Amino acid sequence: MLTIAIQNKGRLNEDTVALMADAGITASASHRKLISEASGFPLHVLYLRDDDIPQAVAMGVADIGIVGLNEVLEKEQDVDVRMKLGFGACRLSLAVPKSAEYTDIRWFEGKRVATSYPVILRNYFSENGIHAFVHEIAGSVEVAPAVGMADAIFDIVSSGGTLIQNGLVEEETVIRSEAVLIAHPHLDAEKEEEIGKLMFRFRSIIESKGMKYVLMNLPKQRIDEAVALLPGMKSPTVMPLADKEWVSLHVVLHENDLWDKIEQLKNIGAADILVLALENVIR
Ligand code: ATP
Ligand code: MG
Repeated sequence: MLTIAIQNKGRLNEDTVALMADAGITASASHRKLISEASGFPLHVLYLRDDDIPQAVAMGVADIGIVGLNEVLEKEQDVDVRMKLGFGACRLSLAVPKSAEYTDIRWFEGKRVATSYPVILRNYFSENGIHAFVHEIAGSVEVAPAVGMADAIFDIVSSGGTLIQNGLVEEETVIRSEAVLIAHPHLDAEKEEEIGKLMFRFRSIIESKGMKYVLMNLPKQRIDEAVALLPGMKSPTVMPLADKEWVSLHVVLHENDLWDKIEQLKNIGAADILVLALENVIR
């Protein structure tokens, strides 16, 4: 049976448990458990701190894991990144005090930079030929410049609110991260097959996020124009109506361009447009 390592509490826990639930897998959300058996899929769930997940997967204590890409890059453990999961988005950025006269990355030459991600930062500076002092601190990185512990910081940013509160300006984005599914690099065929099934479920859920099922009535002679407008999965479904001059057109659209497409369809005569939530797209 596969073992998956997930964060026991913290920012990724809830979305991880929710993704598994959407995939029909019930894992206990208990923070106190170390390991439990899921229902809905043959799976053991190991609850760990996110820092320990890459190592647990590299060692084979867990076969797979869900963790931020930032932790995977920082820990440099031997694991395969199998897929992005569409949540936990953030970036790792260099930020400097507002008062600093920042020019470009050369500003960091000889400076002290506080971070909880020393490996990623050292790699970035060495790739760019910068010699700076990397100070590893465990938490509250954003206060380091104000208390005189550092000249700048390298930290996780999502909205940027914490930086502003601490009088810091984000100057360089080093990596963009989101939650990823990682796997032990050498698994037997049986486990790989199970992982394939799990990834199939996850992919269906991720792909159907933001998709809408749209139905409308359309004058029959405008079908070709409508097909040209719509990307569709294959092509839109066209069904006859009692009124021979009209058809019913069904299509799946992404919410990003839903309203643009609806306007274009109205312009060629579409009427009675229904937009429905879509639960899952299974290909
Ligand atoms: P743990 O106790 O498991 O070590 P943690 O305190 O290290 O938890 P969390 O704050 O729970 O970590 O964040 C987990 C992950 O969530 C981060 O590594 C990152 O991938 C992602 N994340 C997304 N947005 C943010 C954010 N604004 N701040 C911190 N992490 C974020
Ligand atoms: Mg952590």
